[in-house]
Amino acid sequence: MTDYAKAREIAEQAREREWTRPSFGKQLFLGDLRLDLVHPMPRPDAEQNARGDEFLHKLRRFLEDKVDPAAIEREAVVPQDVITGLADLGAFGMKIEPEYGGLGLNHLYYTRALALVGSYSPAIATLLSAHQSIGVPQPLRLFGTEAQKRTFLPRCARGEISAFLLTEPDVGSDPARLSTTATFVDDPDGGHYVIDGTKLWTTNGTIADLLVVMARTGSRISAFVVEANSPGITVERRNAFMGLRGIENGLTRFEGVRVPAANLIGKEGQGLKIALTTLNTGRISVPAVCAGIAKWATKIAREWGDARVQWGRRIGEHEAVGGKIAFIACTAYALEALVDLCSRLADDERNDIRIEAALAKLWASEMAWRVADELVQIRGGRGFETADSLAARGERGVPAEQMLRDLRINRIFEGSTEIMHLLIAREAVDAHLSVAGDLVDPKADMRAKAAAARRAGGFYARWLPTLVAGPGNRPGSYADFGPLAHELRYVERACRKLARSTFYGMSRWQGRLEHRQRFLGRIVDIGAELFAMTAVCLRAREDAARLGRGPQELAEGFCRQARQRVEALFHDLWHNTDDTDTRIARRVMAGRYTFLEEGVLDPSIDGPWVAVPRARVAAKS
Ligand SMILES: Cc1cc2nc3c(=O)[nH]c(=O)nc-3n(C[C@H](O)[C@H](O)[C@H](O)COP(=O)(O)OP(=O)(O)OC[C@H]3O[C@@H](n4cnc5c(N)ncnc54)[C@H](O)[C@@H]3O)c2cc1C
Repeated sequence: MTDYAKAREIAEQAREREWTRPSFGKQLFLGDLRLDLVHPMPRPDAEQNARGDEFLHKLRRFLEDKVDPAAIEREAVVPQDVITGLADLGAFGMKIEPEYGGLGLNHLYYTRALALVGSYSPAIATLLSAHQSIGVPQPLRLFGTEAQKRTFLPRCARGEISAFLLTEPDVGSDPARLSTTATFVDDPDGGHYVIDGTKLWTTNGTIADLLVVMARTGSRISAFVVEANSPGITVERRNAFMGLRGIENGLTRFEGVRVPAANLIGKEGQGLKIALTTLNTGRISVPAVCAGIAKWATKIAREWGDARVQWGRRIGEHEAVGGKIAFIACTAYALEALVDLCSRLADDERNDIRIEAALAKLWASEMAWRVADELVQIRGGRGFETADSLAARGERGVPAEQMLRDLRINRIFEGSTEIMHLLIAREAVDAHLSVAGDLVDPKADMRAKAAAARRAGGFYARWLPTLVAGPGNRPGSYADFGPLAHELRYVERACRKLARSTFYGMSRWQGRLEHRQRFLGRIVDIGAELFAMTAVCLRAREDAARLGRGPQELAEGFCRQARQRVEALFHDLWHNTDDTDTRIARRVMAGRYTFLEEGVLDPSIDGPWVAVPRARVAAKS
């Protein structure tokens, strides 16, 4: 089997196949806008709201009084008294149930808290979310035994910090290459595992008390809770990055680390499934931080756009700058709407939100990056200057360049944009693969192909006619959304067009479709924009009673901007440079154009591209 086939098989094994609950996202990609699944939006109960608001109030006061975000950036460390203060507030156990010592907040308030913290200090937000969204609490809440919950959750809630360790020097997007091993050893106490390997980029890893470690048990991957002070664990170094200077991110080595069998999470071989299921809702934390930063960017864009005068006008009045301010404000509103909707759906538990959370992660990380980039541009030279330097000159120390740097990683970790495209595209074409998969599978025999042809004939005969017309073609549809009904009608029409386009892509490329990554990426990006438009319309409708016309104006503005992006993506599905680009990329890698590299110097420090862990080098020699 090729490495590609192995990676694909592992991803397929880890995928959740069952759909026991309805999914707005799944239906969207099938051309069926199931507004009834998200409208009216689930409402959190009053008691939850009261507890959440009280916590947010305390958290805000603590941040204002006790946390100096500029010092965290300058000194590249979150001080211990800040960590202790957050622990005293219960911030390390926001989502942990009260019976295990946590605050028992719902997703809605968890994401609001992350947005608040993220707007002030993205490094602290990363500390909290790595601990709670992917660290020990979340997988244990979902898959832990009662004994594991009782042992570990109260410790996590009290402020013992946890980390999630999947990545290795040779394993990023491809867990099939995972080389850390966990070997079972029988003993009178029920047995234990011995873990060996090296884990890279472990957020919180240098200060963690508890670790979730992914390791190979035989041919499959399993997940363990490991005490960070176990003999045999060495944190070899603290890594430094382009942004998030305050995070405690390590390179952690395991040599003969003994872990009780009771610390296995779920069953042997379930590790990747546990990681992916954890991320189903865990993924909303990235968009939450993105929304917080985009809301902050709106404040700065407003104040600066109004205060700075050039060429006789406030810069916000120059059309070129005004366009950026409008983009920042509308996108911030959409980001918040998207995060709120996903959080409420997660709390409500009636829908399966794995596609929605993935779309939110993908879309939010890309859009927030653009928002921060436009903010830097609007700030001109001051956008490029650090907050400390601005303040030292006696000006307001706005950390625009820091936010841009801090946001960049969101497009890479917890599933890079390219991998999110693949994961979501896999779900988007799932219905087609389940009826017609054998038709395009070169390994399927003639009988399987014939059965698939019959199944596909029946499915497509029923499905394709549903894509011709729908509520989006009827002028009075979605009337309860007032002026935004028009936008929802567009979403409905576009989602049918999206499904037709996916079908054309399937028919044209068949089994090769999975390699048309840019086509699939555009399909997914259109789905994400349509989901964001839906969230914005729902949110503006709800906000109107409290806030008047403002939300609707932002929603209309956002929908117009999103439509332009959607139309461009539809166009690019069939008119693009994908084939020439693929050829050129191959030739670049083959060295055909190295003449282009003449006349420059490479400032990189010498070394291998990927450092093989020392333990393995020693074992080989
Ligand atoms: C600050 C920071 C914090 C992190 N925290 C953690 C943590 O707490 N725990 C943890 O386990 N990991 C963590 N990571 C690791 C992070 O999740 C990985 O960086 C990420 O999964 C990508 O892996 P990689 O960097 O090895 O990139 P690679 O997998 O080498 O990918 C390189 C490029 O190729 C693309 N690519 C890869 N495969 C494909 C494909 N099949 N199709 C198309 N494109 C592809 C990628 O999208 C990317 O653009 C962290 C990383 C950083 C930088």
